[in-house]
Amino acid sequence: MGFFDMKAICAVCEKEVGLNRHKIADKNCICPSCFKDAGFNIGMAHKPIKQMTVEDIHFAIEAKNTNNDELSSFNPSKKIGTFVEFDDTQKKWLILTGFLGKRDKSKVFNYSDIVDFELLEDGESVTQGGLGRALVGGALFGGAGAVVGGVTGKRKNKAICNSLKIKVTLRDVNNPLIYITFLNTATKKDGFMYKTNYQLAHECLSAFQIICNEQEVLINNNGSNKIAGSAADEIKKFKNLLDEGILTQDEFDAKKKELLSL
Ligand SMILES: [Zn+2]
Repeated sequence: MGFFDMKAICAVCEKEVGLNRHKIADKNCICPSCFKDAGFNIGMAHKPIKQMTVEDIHFAIEAKNTNNDELSSFNPSKKIGTFVEFDDTQKKWLILTGFLGKRDKSKVFNYSDIVDFELLEDGESVTQGGLGRALVGGALFGGAGAVVGGVTGKRKNKAICNSLKIKVTLRDVNNPLIYITFLNTATKKDGFMYKTNYQLAHECLSAFQIICNEQEVLINNNGSNKIAGSAADEIKKFKNLLDEGILTQDEFDAKKKELLSL
């Protein structure tokens, strides 16, 4: 490794950067300051930074700035434990990421971002719901301990739950999935902690389902026959065209905006 490896140019701000740089795709790198500006530590399931292009980084920085504005104007009308907050006036929601349910660096989502969601207990699907579908699973049959077929039967036999989370599929090509963690350590299923968090998780599922039902009415009332899933599929097609260099970033952004009716 020669002396010249010590220094490089940040592909975003074009300032000189030392060995504390972060590698991204196409042999580019970014400086710690741009890395921070892109907000890469807010618990999102974004793709690995090493696979991100310069455009991806620019997009992340822009998204974080927008998010900061949305966070400061967020005014919760409903709060579920220390996990999720809803702003029913602005039709927005967020996952509490900070210590003891602080808003901290939470990412703000729109109600219309939700495509579907499912409760996973030790990785097994317990309850599912979403746009254009009904809530199906334990919640319908009386919540904790209800037996609906084999999966729930097997689940009931275990005395310990190691993980309880809701997986949300979002209408966002950059962050299509997000998890809300209700339990992530071994917890006795007959104890207070499990029962409380299981209840909160189901409260959250119900809220999501109400939101999805409302969104569906809105979509139908707009006279639009495209449902969320097809908009996401369309965007993916255009993203491929962008990746292949057929569309420019601006053309892609315009198309995406149009499809999401922003
Ligand atoms: Zn930089």
